[in-house]
Amino acid sequence: MSALERLAAFVEPLGELRRGEPLARHTTFGIGGPADLFLTVRSGEALAAAATAAADEGVPLFVLGSGSNILVADAGIRGLVIDNRARAEHLEGTVVRIESGASFAAFARRMCRRALDGLAWAVGIPGTLGGAVVYNAGAYGGCLADVLRRVRLQLPGGRIEWVDAADLRLVYRGSRFTRGELRGRTVLECELELAPGDAADLLRRAAAYDEKRLAAQPRGRSAGSTFKNPPEAPAWKLIDAVGMRGMRRGDAAISEKHANFFVNEGNASAADVRWLIDEARRRVAEQFGITLEPEVEFVGDWS
Ligand SMILES: Cc1cc2nc3c(=O)[nH]c(=O)nc-3n(C[C@H](O)[C@H](O)[C@H](O)COP(=O)(O)OP(=O)(O)OC[C@H]3O[C@@H](n4cnc5c(N)ncnc54)[C@H](O)[C@@H]3O)c2cc1C
Repeated sequence: MSALERLAAFVEPLGELRRGEPLARHTTFGIGGPADLFLTVRSGEALAAAATAAADEGVPLFVLGSGSNILVADAGIRGLVIDNRARAEHLEGTVVRIESGASFAAFARRMCRRALDGLAWAVGIPGTLGGAVVYNAGAYGGCLADVLRRVRLQLPGGRIEWVDAADLRLVYRGSRFTRGELRGRTVLECELELAPGDAADLLRRAAAYDEKRLAAQPRGRSAGSTFKNPPEAPAWKLIDAVGMRGMRRGDAAISEKHANFFVNEGNASAADVRWLIDEARRRVAEQFGITLEPEVEFVGDWS
């Protein structure tokens, strides 16, 4: 029996297991080829057990949140993809613990309704708490690092430990995860400290952020901002300046409304989107000497 088959037999009772599941069904781009194994889990225990089993069998693991910041290759992902839906929440005063598969936006809105201040800026950010930790998700001057106290991590050997937020080195859209220093670690749970606030005021602020987002961002299928903003200028301005606003490749397009949003207007392939990304980087480097760094992560088998 192969390692993949042994793993499949072990993880099957932990959730819903599918073989060859197209990732296009699980990414906001609507793009991505099949996963060898695709396991949906609904508890932190199942998430931890499946992650440990993959490491024990030496099978590559990808933990999927909402798929809102990834471009998955057309050839898909080898090994095990865990579709994380662990969402338990525990609130005590102003301190809240929440599992990593919970929706960040829904959680942020819930906290506003409960008169807890600190996350009104996050009500429109797609994704899970796990993804928010990895990228230190942020908007409108706020970011997760402002309120995150610590995270519970699953280590490759099966050990679980709480790690202080300061030790994750959270920066603008980055962390020790994005820098590859925590490879193989899975975020199981987050602990945040919020502040007492006024629910009506917080919901008013959240509504204002909703409006701002609606006005600025296109509705199509995307992964949000494609590039991080370099210190010199916003990425959208640079892409616009090199004449790429509205450019298409197959069904992939650079949005007319916001040139840092690349959208799937039908049946775009990952290769089409990647071509536009590479072309934007090339032109901006050539014309301005600025290296655009992708915010979107390339995942899976790009060989
Ligand atoms: C329309 C739109 C608007 C957006 N606006 C914003 C914005 O304003 N601000 C912002 O910061 N982002 C924004 N984003 C990007 C995206 O929402 C965030 O980056 C989000 O935090 C990604 O979370 P996710 O669960 O979807 O992660 P995924 O895309 O599923 O995964 C991303 C990475 O995180 C890893 N990961 C996920 N969960 C775990 C876990 N439990 N343990 C370990 N690793 C994990 C994955 O393995 C992968 O490497 C936007 C995206 C879209 C589509």
